[in-house]
Amino acid sequence: MIEEATNLFRSAFGTEPTHIAQAPGRINLIGEHIDYNDGIVFPAAINLGITAAIAPSPDDQTHLISAQLGPGESFRLPPDFPAPNSWSKYPAATAWAIGAKTPLQIAVNSSLPAAGGGLSSSAALLLATAVAWNEIDKLGHSPTRLAQLCQLGENQYVGVNCGIMDQLASACGIAGHALQIDIPTLQINPVPIPADLSIVILDTGTPRSLAESGYNERRQQCEEACRILGIGTLREANLPLLELILNPTIKKRARHVVTEIERTKKFASALATSDYDQIGSLMVASHASLRDDYEVSTPELDTIVQAAIQSPGCIGARLTGAGFGGAAVALVQTEFLNSFTSETEQIYRSTVKTSDPNVIPVHPSPGASILRI
Ligand code: ADP
Ligand code: MG
Repeated sequence: MIEEATNLFRSAFGTEPTHIAQAPGRINLIGEHIDYNDGIVFPAAINLGITAAIAPSPDDQTHLISAQLGPGESFRLPPDFPAPNSWSKYPAATAWAIGAKTPLQIAVNSSLPAAGGGLSSSAALLLATAVAWNEIDKLGHSPTRLAQLCQLGENQYVGVNCGIMDQLASACGIAGHALQIDIPTLQINPVPIPADLSIVILDTGTPRSLAESGYNERRQQCEEACRILGIGTLREANLPLLELILNPTIKKRARHVVTEIERTKKFASALATSDYDQIGSLMVASHASLRDDYEVSTPELDTIVQAAIQSPGCIGARLTGAGFGGAAVALVQTEFLNSFTSETEQIYRSTVKTSDPNVIPVHPSPGASILRI
């Protein structure tokens, strides 16, 4: 990845990069659609993500090229509104939010299966450029602070109303660990992944559709539930309280949030004690809740989760990220990885004829970092 980004940099800009920035994508083991409800989430940064070769720009503009998406629009600092139309809006959002001073040349390469695939390529891109400006402009921000600033950039500059989970996971990942994060305090409790378990991405090969409008609608429905109940966030709710909500859709949405926060609490202790039965039931219940109460799954995600659960060595599986397409995640006993992979792919292909699945084992990995060359 470093070599690819460096070669791209050389061919685009004709000089050598001075820095390499790396920022991981993430999977979320459990706690879905919970960050914007002040709950608890459980992501891990993964060994797939964005690598960027970088050097200070010879002129007053930041210039960008991506191995996957081609050139982005150049921009001056501070970036103007409205945001660029191209993928440059993400690096520009970072620059805007952290108050970047030095214009850069940036060559980006990604090892994530697809941009927009639910593994948080956007947060990886934000964080890769954030660690670069943090180093080059000597801003001294902590990883948590960089995550907060990147979320601010994605919210206010790009205009995507996301929570903070993706940016925090990409900024603060720890090798071998998933991060139990309490959103209101941003306190991170790293929990080791047992040595005999593998985290496996189940990419359905389907793009996400209606993700942004569906996501915004879910957020509004959660706010509506809080308004009806007279509470600040759904973290304060419980199942008996939800009986006060008459609208069946709003009630279902709130029920997902309340039950998912409980599942996420139980998941941490199940992981710490290697209680695989409990881990599996919690993941399966989380998927069912996202499918039936939150209604963010798709037939392809349901099929790949079912296929995984029937395959050898699977502890549990569920959709990961916002849903509406993209990827699921499974926890699998490492000794069964080969037969798990072939069987899951085969069951999926026998049901879904229109997309090709991709089963990818990943490792929990460190958060975004920068190397000086
Ligand atoms: P996700 O974060 O789940 O992958 P998003 O829709 O939030 O999906 O972010 C995807 C966007 O991030 C892309 O449309 C593009 O603008 C940007 N992006 C992701 N990967 C790359 C890449 N390799 N090169 C340039 N831009 C990228
Ligand atoms: Mg994203």
